[in-house]
Amino acid sequence: MVGITCLNIKVYLLSPDKMLIFNNPKSNIMKKPEKQNITGRRDALKMMGLGSAGIVTGNLADMSPAWANKVEKMTPPSKGLPPIKITNVKAIGVRPGNIDLVVVKVETSEPGLYGLGCATFNQRALAVIEAVNKYLPDLCIGRDAENIEDMWRVAYYSSYWRNGPVLNNGISGLCDALWDIKAKRANMPLYQLLGGKSRFAVDCYTSGDGQSPEAIAENVQKAMDDGFRHVRIGAGRYGGPGVLGANPDFRDAGYGMPTDRFMFQRGYALAIPKVFEVVRKRCGDEVELIHDIHELLEPRDAINVCRAVEQFHPYFIEDPLSPENTHWWKLFRESTSVPIAMGELFNNVNEYLEPMSNRRFDYIRCHVSQIGGITQAMKIAHLGEWFNIKTAWHGPTDTSPVGHAALAHMELVHPNFGIHEGRGGFSDRLSEFFPGCPTIKNGYMYVNEAPGVGVEINEKLASKYPATNDGGRWTTRKRDGTIISP
Ligand code: MG
Repeated sequence: MVGITCLNIKVYLLSPDKMLIFNNPKSNIMKKPEKQNITGRRDALKMMGLGSAGIVTGNLADMSPAWANKVEKMTPPSKGLPPIKITNVKAIGVRPGNIDLVVVKVETSEPGLYGLGCATFNQRALAVIEAVNKYLPDLCIGRDAENIEDMWRVAYYSSYWRNGPVLNNGISGLCDALWDIKAKRANMPLYQLLGGKSRFAVDCYTSGDGQSPEAIAENVQKAMDDGFRHVRIGAGRYGGPGVLGANPDFRDAGYGMPTDRFMFQRGYALAIPKVFEVVRKRCGDEVELIHDIHELLEPRDAINVCRAVEQFHPYFIEDPLSPENTHWWKLFRESTSVPIAMGELFNNVNEYLEPMSNRRFDYIRCHVSQIGGITQAMKIAHLGEWFNIKTAWHGPTDTSPVGHAALAHMELVHPNFGIHEGRGGFSDRLSEFFPGCPTIKNGYMYVNEAPGVGVEINEKLASKYPATNDGGRWTTRKRDGTIISP
């Protein structure tokens, strides 16, 4: 037998036919066992709370009286905290500004213990709220709040038809709230529960959009002056509509709706390299530049844009291909060396497997609530680690502060973190709705050190500004009125 003492943990290693005992005499969780007569292996196991656990072999009857006496005095191993049940699940929809945010609140059988998770699908917020409030309480109430993976699978498979953005966002809210609960129970910020820090804070990019190359360069310089090292540059809103200011023929013809947007794809494709050139000349080589094609170009044009901007060494080009054009990946990668971020419109972790294992892109661009929350995002991030693919989670203003904080907790942990989308930041008004918002300083995002995700929601205030059905409209047309798929 060999005895090893490490702090307050004592481990006895015996010969293979004897016993392996763990003892933690200082634990305040474990209760001292009642004295019992040890007549055999079964009694000893029962006394130690180990049942028929496979870690115990041999027979106590074979032991020396001295050792049997030690066993008798041993405390049983910890069984952890007492179980808690889910007692309620509800969605909270709020519109602090011009975007609907949805948060799911999960309450538990432990008084005062609850969790929050982001379920924001701005474009269909009311559908998510309805799905959560109508289906999740019956499904979840009474279940163990600790078994996150199991709860995730129950919610995911119970509808049989699955994998859509509405249900996935609802599941994300549930899932992330359970992670919040678990970290609160552990009395530690979520990043500690996930493994601890790999960096002191999370580097962010901000936005330097504008309507001309010179205006964009000006905005990039301002962002640099504010401490950002990474800036996303865009010509016109969302990748180019209106970049040339032309009036589309479909409007003159009365086709579509007046609110439908116009995009002149060729004009946009020609404008982007010019924007990079002007920004580099004005702002230098050090700043990292990002651009989002937003899946708005034909695949071959997207390749040509990437080739044209190679000389300006972008940090990455985002979403050059729509999900319907993923069969272009191989040709795309063989055609340009520009780093690519991809996956914003993917719904399921399985969609990442083939392109990541074939190194089709360099940054994981994923709306985490779209794929079901932290539980799934962790799997994708870990997969990326094996292929040198970094995270760049989708995190614009239509991710709630609860969601942003959850992203930041993961980003603090993962060695293959790339960049956090921090544009917009968190205004004083937003912080009123969501006390505990992360903070951005010198281009870095910091989470607070409160147990859990660290962000709350002011439900009283939120009830005065409920979510609406005024979600984003993604109807973009060519000059003749043909729809362009993002
Ligand atoms: Mg994007």
